Amino acid sequence: AHEGILRRQSLRESAARTYARSLPIVPVRARGLTIEGADGRRYLDCLSGAGSLALGHNHPVVLEAIKKVLDSGAPLHVLDLATPVKDAFTTELFATLPRQLADDARIQFCGPAGTDAVEAALKLVRTATGREGLLAFTGAYHGMTAGALDASGGATDVRVTRLPFPHGYRCPFGIGGDRGAEMAARWAEHLLDDPKGGVPAPAGMILEPVQGEGGVIPAPDDWMRRMRALTAARSIPLIADEVQTGVARTGAFWAVEHSGVVPDVMVLSKAIGGSLPLAVIVYRSGLDAWPPGAHAGTFRGNQLAMAAGAATLAFVRENRLADRAATLGARMLSQLQGLCAAHPGMGDVRGRGLMIGVELVDLDAPAADAVAPPPAPALAAAVQRECLRRGLIVELGGRHSSVVRLLPPLTLTDEQAAAVLDRFADALAAAEK
Ligand code: PMP
Repeated sequence: AHEGILRRQSLRESAARTYARSLPIVPVRARGLTIEGADGRRYLDCLSGAGSLALGHNHPVVLEAIKKVLDSGAPLHVLDLATPVKDAFTTELFATLPRQLADDARIQFCGPAGTDAVEAALKLVRTATGREGLLAFTGAYHGMTAGALDASGGATDVRVTRLPFPHGYRCPFGIGGDRGAEMAARWAEHLLDDPKGGVPAPAGMILEPVQGEGGVIPAPDDWMRRMRALTAARSIPLIADEVQTGVARTGAFWAVEHSGVVPDVMVLSKAIGGSLPLAVIVYRSGLDAWPPGAHAGTFRGNQLAMAAGAATLAFVRENRLADRAATLGARMLSQLQGLCAAHPGMGDVRGRGLMIGVELVDLDAPAADAVAPPPAPALAAAVQRECLRRGLIVELGGRHSSVVRLLPPLTLTDEQAAAVLDRFADALAAAEK
C-alpha cells in the first residue's frame, strides 16, 4: 500500500509539493510525537505540521473538543456568524494576548491558512493608512499568496522596501552580534528619514519575531524595541507575524512578549487551530477602518478548528507550556551546542524555546564574505535523510536550505527529547561520512 500510494500521488499531484520530496512517508496513524507510516514504520515528528501541533498529534483534549462539537448538533458550516464555539475561542485567545493589545483589540477571522491572514493584515494597514508601501525583511517568510509572497524575502514588488534582518554572526552588513543589529536598525531609520535616498511613508512594517522558514533566526529584543519605537514615532503600524512563533513555541505565549513589544497587528495561524486550519488577525481597534463587507469569505467559521484551538490554548495556558518550552528548549540548545566541537560542519546552533535551528556550513568551500561561513545544503539534505532513516522527521530552511529545523511539540518529554537528540547526533555523524 505504502509504495502504491506514494507512486500514484507523485503522478497525480503537482511537483510543487514541498514536504513530499524529502519525506517519502504515508502517515496513517499518529499520537503525540509519533507518526506511523503505512509501511508500519514509526517516526518521531519534529516538524509537527510545520510548527502547528503545539500539543503533538491527536492530543486527547483536542480530539475531545472536536467530538463535543460533532455530538452537539451544532452546524459545521456557519460562514462568519457568531456561535458559542467562536465566542469561547475568541475569549480564550484574548485572555492570552498582551494586555495592552487585548484591552483594545478587534479580531478578523481570515482562514483557512496563515497566508490568508497575512493578506488581511497587509490590506488592513493599507486601508487604514491610505498608504501603499510596506517595510519587510531579508529572509522573511509570510506565505505563498501574492501579497504575502511579496512581503517575503527575495520578492521584488516595487511597493516593498526590504530592510536587513539582524542575524548574530551573519548580518547583511557582514557585522555580527549587537553591532550588526545596531546597523540594521540605523539603516531602517535612515531609509525612513532621508528626504533624498529614503522611501515614502509606508503603510506598515511586517516582521517575524523569530524568522522560521528563514532559518530560525531570533530577532534581538533590543532591535525589536527599536523597530517598535521607530514605527510608533512615524505612525507606521507594526505587524507581528506570529504564525509560527505563537502559542508558546518560543518559550513565551507570544514571541513579542520576550521584548515587551506590543504590535498594532498580530497575524496568527498554525497552532491556534489545534491542528485544524484557522487563521486570524488581531489588531488595535483604531485600525479598524475597513467598511462592512471589505473582507468577506466563505470559510471563516471553522467550528471544529475553533474548538480544537480553544482547547489547545487553554491546555497550553493551564499547563504553563511556555515555561516548559523555554526550559526544555534551552537545554536542547545547549546539548546541541555541545556537539559542535566534534562536528565542524555545525556552523551555528540557535533558536528560542522549542524552535531550534542547526546551520550546517562547508568550511572547505571558498568564503563568500568575511563573516558567514559558506552554507552546506548537501550536508543538510544528507542529515535530513539520515534522520529519516533513523525515524526522525526534521525540516530544512534558511540560507540555501542549509539549516536543519526542529519544531517538536511542546508536550515533548525529557525522554523523548533525549531520543530526538541521540538520533540527530547519529544522523549527523552518518551524514558527515
Ligand atoms: N507566516 C509565517 C511566519 C510562516 O511560518 C508561515 C508558514 N510557514 C506563513 C506565514 C504561511 O502560513 P500558511 O502556510 O498556513 O499559509
